Amino acid sequence: MKQIPTEFFSITEIGGVGEMIYKAVRFPECVPEYDHERKEDTIVPICTYLQRPESGTDYSITGQELLAGLCNLYKKINAPDYSVDITDMVWDWCRNNIQPYNIEILCQMMEQENYGDYLLSGEITSYGTFDVCDFVKDLCKLGSAYEYYDVLMQVRYNHDVAAGRALYYEGRICDSMPFLEKFRRFDNDEQFLCEFNKEHQDLKSNVLDMFPDIRWRLKINPKTGKIEMGVDVQSVFDIAWYTFARMVADVAPPVDEDLDYMYSQGSILTCMACGEYFVRHSSRQRYCNNPKCQAERNNRKSREHYKRKKNNTKE
Ligand SMILES: [Zn+2]
Repeated sequence: MKQIPTEFFSITEIGGVGEMIYKAVRFPECVPEYDHERKEDTIVPICTYLQRPESGTDYSITGQELLAGLCNLYKKINAPDYSVDITDMVWDWCRNNIQPYNIEILCQMMEQENYGDYLLSGEITSYGTFDVCDFVKDLCKLGSAYEYYDVLMQVRYNHDVAAGRALYYEGRICDSMPFLEKFRRFDNDEQFLCEFNKEHQDLKSNVLDMFPDIRWRLKINPKTGKIEMGVDVQSVFDIAWYTFARMVADVAPPVDEDLDYMYSQGSILTCMACGEYFVRHSSRQRYCNNPKCQAERNNRKSREHYKRKKNNTKE
């Protein structure tokens, strides 16, 4: 799939063009700090004259990778039986990813000639600081919507009724979407599917209702100097929602139910071994890149091969 670095995200780019690579800000380090006045956990970037953040079009994170990574974090943070401290998990994500909030403002500051002044005045640090609870709230909105959409696709196109039955759970932070609960009274899988398919349109429009409003602003395109309508990308959640929006609008299988359509390259799949989301880069990939999962894949393959061979000799 063609990857396009996005300095600027205009109205014409919302449609089905390749996979977007976004502008990003990366701080060399950040630390969790407790704000005693407001009684909130915060994450504060470390930023000194020698330890400066970097900004620009970051080629290592595409919108889809960001979306898959955030949704994996959501599943981990929200798992009912998980006990790792939430602030630690958010901190860990930030250290291994990019600055989550105020991306455009920070980029603008860092591109200014008097960048050093912003740095010394602490403005960069203060724009880079955010509350853990805001991050978790945004994460849950995104994660639960994506989880729901993903299960809808599994049930509809893979006839995976078990995924549909397992969708609802009471999570550590929020509950998952309850829209499929009413079908659980059908013990019979075929009946479940039949009733599900009848309501499929309505179930899908629930997904659309979960999308936040997209903010547009007039901006000067740095490449052409022209004024254009552009999307306001301030947080990693904005990026993830736009990516998700393009998936729903674009990769949504057409009415004639071409089974392979949703498996086109560059789509997000669930790993068959560990269950995490991953961005698929080749058309046959069904497992994530984790070496353990790759080993599992090879094991299963050779077991199948053995079974087939055994069956063939029997005949
Ligand atoms: Zn895996």
